[in-house]
Amino acid sequence: MNLPETPAFEARVELLPPPRRFAALGDAYAPQVATTPLPEPRMLHYNTALAEQIGLQDDAAQQPGLTAILAGNRPWPGYAPVSSVYAGHQFGSFVPQLGDGRAHLIAELSGGDGRRWELQLKGGGKTPWSRFADGRAVLRSSIREYLASEAMHALGIPTTRALSLVGSPQEVVRETIETAAVVCRAAPGFARFGHFEYFYYLDRHERLGPLADHVIAEHFPEFAGRADRYRAWLTEVVERTARLMAQWQAVGFCHGVMNTDNFSALGLSLDYGPYGFMDGFDAHHICNHSDEGGRYAYDRQPQIGHWNCSRLLQATLPLLAEQPEQAVEIANGILDRYPPAYSQAMTRLWTAKLGLGEVRDSDPELINRYLGILNNGRSDFSRSFRHLSRLRSAGDEPAHGIREEIADLAAFDAWIGDYRARLRGEQSDDRERAARMDTVNPRYVLRNHLAQGAIEQAQGGSYGEIDTLFRLLNRPFEEQPGMERYAEEPPASARHIEVSCSS
Ligand code: AMP
Ligand code: MG
Repeated sequence: MNLPETPAFEARVELLPPPRRFAALGDAYAPQVATTPLPEPRMLHYNTALAEQIGLQDDAAQQPGLTAILAGNRPWPGYAPVSSVYAGHQFGSFVPQLGDGRAHLIAELSGGDGRRWELQLKGGGKTPWSRFADGRAVLRSSIREYLASEAMHALGIPTTRALSLVGSPQEVVRETIETAAVVCRAAPGFARFGHFEYFYYLDRHERLGPLADHVIAEHFPEFAGRADRYRAWLTEVVERTARLMAQWQAVGFCHGVMNTDNFSALGLSLDYGPYGFMDGFDAHHICNHSDEGGRYAYDRQPQIGHWNCSRLLQATLPLLAEQPEQAVEIANGILDRYPPAYSQAMTRLWTAKLGLGEVRDSDPELINRYLGILNNGRSDFSRSFRHLSRLRSAGDEPAHGIREEIADLAAFDAWIGDYRARLRGEQSDDRERAARMDTVNPRYVLRNHLAQGAIEQAQGGSYGEIDTLFRLLNRPFEEQPGMERYAEEPPASARHIEVSCSS
């Protein structure tokens, strides 16, 4: 008897011509590696808007062939998946070989939006770079990555995206037995700082140029062909990284594992593991339970970003000049761009969060005092900024809403006086300012306890909360009637949630 076959997947979107592909760099960078099928794959969430943007079918349910592809059960027509090798500094120590231990590049597309899109499965099985691990990702961490990618994008923060979340009953052993899932990440490219470190420390410097030239040609075409293209690209990456760190700080986002292998050569947020959006503001907050020394604490992120850039520059020295001394001088010049790029971005973001239309010399002090007040009382970071927009600049009526967030009211009232004076000093219009502030101070962020709610539901077989959060966080700046509870502080019972590197 002939069983009906699963309908063939018809890609409506074209693969990039082979010379433009990352995979074309060849085996030394990214050998072909087949994905390992998962039993009973089920599409748990599909990012329709992103699918449309890329030029894919917008209805996953109508495309059984697509689910199989996004589960890693079938290759993309015409493309052989590859997994790349990279190295990296993990918690400060160099690890000579990491690589895509559970990631497969499954397609490189010329998107319907005219952009370049790479699709990468995370959790699609073992690769030559899996080391001792199983090549899988659990449902729990896959939900966290899926939601965070799109939440960050909606906040206007450069990031890899997430196209789909596929689950399977396949058991995966972590601290407990969990089930497997696969996220399909989408980005223009997944080149990491660690890709360069690998070839530098392995002493295969001749492999740095082709990799950098691919990155430049595909992602920084404005520099392609120029004699100083490496310097131009690295300067751009350093500045983008600096601005990215400022954007993380401004929304209270802690990455958790800022190893150089988790840093993008395109300046994107990458690899969402034990990240966290801060609830109560603690400048020294450590979101990753495995980060015992607090290397990646909230207030250290900007300086770690700087250090990571220094590692990238070290690894690319052979590209900068033939004479080592000259290369070091150029690299130092590039690295010097980080602090001003960071401070400018940070000042702009903090002043925007306070609704200040222009930057004045006294503003950094005003900002730091406010952060100090939040820090001392562990006031909720997102709520404290969001409520500030309701304040009137005239008079001295109590600041409703915001006062409930604050512990040290004496310090706060003194600060409010100065803040009001500062607003009046630039003839700030209350309504206009409130509207502007509400476009930079999110009402909804992906708090750990919210993600945890969706995870626990999903582990019990219900996937509705994933969709609820996905939609909510797609419009983080808008008031969404009926969704107030998602903007609340976590209940005391949820404060114990711990996230670690286990994923
Ligand atoms: P991460 O801490 O997630 O950035 O991962 C660090 C390295 O470990 C990367 O090379 C990953 O590919 C690899 N890795 C993490 N989890 C697994 C896994 N379950 N199977 C294979 N490789 C993994
Ligand atoms: Mg990683």
